[in-house]
Amino acid sequence: MDIEDVKEYVRCKLDVFTPNCELQCEEIGDGNLNYVFRVRDVNSGISVIVKQAGVTARISDEFKLSTDRNRIESEVLLLQDKLAPGLVPKVLQYDDVMSCCVMEDLSSYTILRTALTDEQRIFPLFADHITTFMANTLLLSSDVVMNHKDKKAAAAAFSNPELCEITEDLVYSEPFKNHNSRNDVFAPNEHFVEKEIYGDDELRLEAAKLKFQFMTNAQALLHGDLHTGSIFVTEKETKVIDPEFAFYGPMGYDIGNVIANLMFAWSHATAVNARTEYVQWLEQTIVDVVDLFRTKFTALWDASVQDVMAKEPGFRAYYLQNVMADSAAVAGLELIRRIVGLAGVKDISSIADEHDRIAAERVLLTAAKRLIKNRNEFEAGADYIGALKQAQ
Ligand code: ADP
Ligand code: MG
Ligand code: MG
Ligand code: MG
Repeated sequence: MDIEDVKEYVRCKLDVFTPNCELQCEEIGDGNLNYVFRVRDVNSGISVIVKQAGVTARISDEFKLSTDRNRIESEVLLLQDKLAPGLVPKVLQYDDVMSCCVMEDLSSYTILRTALTDEQRIFPLFADHITTFMANTLLLSSDVVMNHKDKKAAAAAFSNPELCEITEDLVYSEPFKNHNSRNDVFAPNEHFVEKEIYGDDELRLEAAKLKFQFMTNAQALLHGDLHTGSIFVTEKETKVIDPEFAFYGPMGYDIGNVIANLMFAWSHATAVNARTEYVQWLEQTIVDVVDLFRTKFTALWDASVQDVMAKEPGFRAYYLQNVMADSAAVAGLELIRRIVGLAGVKDISSIADEHDRIAAERVLLTAAKRLIKNRNEFEAGADYIGALKQAQ
């Protein structure tokens, strides 16, 4: 739809807009895949977001992609709002003919990556909110809580093969090989990446193990793209958007993504000599994300576990230990793929001083290798800060 189509569409389809109201509309999308429109009634001030998935990617017509991603996003937002109330935007309508979702307008919030990188703002409640989101959406969609037949039906409904393939390629394959990849390495670090990433056989073997774990461990309904660009924040509230990559995969994929993207914010902050209070808050947030997740996961497990064998003494600890090891490994993979692979992050690319950027990337890549190879040693939040400090 173009801007005029969107105005016509909401006028006809949504009760909140009257047939002759005066509408303003703009395309505000900044992602690679979809079109995002904001429509506002000039008189009432009421506004909504219309997110539409095209048959090709927003950035390139050569990139064909199923529009089913918009159904998945709409249905998953509705489900996540039940599992973790108030932590996602309200969906007003999904239209499978137009492949578009009408949802709550969150324009008064800020995208977390922007708030951290450009403004160095502190969000005291963020760790609390995101750990509630993850513990609830992950554990409550898993086999330990759900009826096993319902869970298998959900896994089939959200199989999402095309978007999974993007992750399999961009996160789990291309960053580890130089040829036939779309990697985008910062030139002064080419030799470092040659040696430390492409040249590390042990690392590639671990990445291979993790790739097939990602593809086969249908543990929980993941968000699937839980980086700081998919999170809207204010000082008081947090809303997770854009779950079009959702599918049944290992819980650690979401947790590791949150941790790695906070590490990018930390790396940016240290490179630009951000104020101590802010850097300390970021470090505490990384610690809290890990430790609060563990606490909430454990309490929720005890309150909601259904499977008779999952109640066996020692099983909860065994299960959580595996989730934490996966989280560490994914944090490492996300750090590597954003530095070496096709899709970078502005936390790193906006570090203006060349020497600071060289150093920032090397610290994160060094920590990433440890997170992947020694993933079983990462249990508490402090372990992650230890890996960053040791790599510095
Ligand atoms: P994509 O899947 O293409 O990455 P996103 O869902 O991440 O699309 O949205 C892209 C951008 O559109 C966001 O970064 C944000 O600026 C804006 N946006 C998306 N959803 C909303 C919303 N509910 N309210 C306000 N702005 C939104
Ligand atoms: Mg997005
Ligand atoms: Mg890059
Ligand atoms: Mg998206």
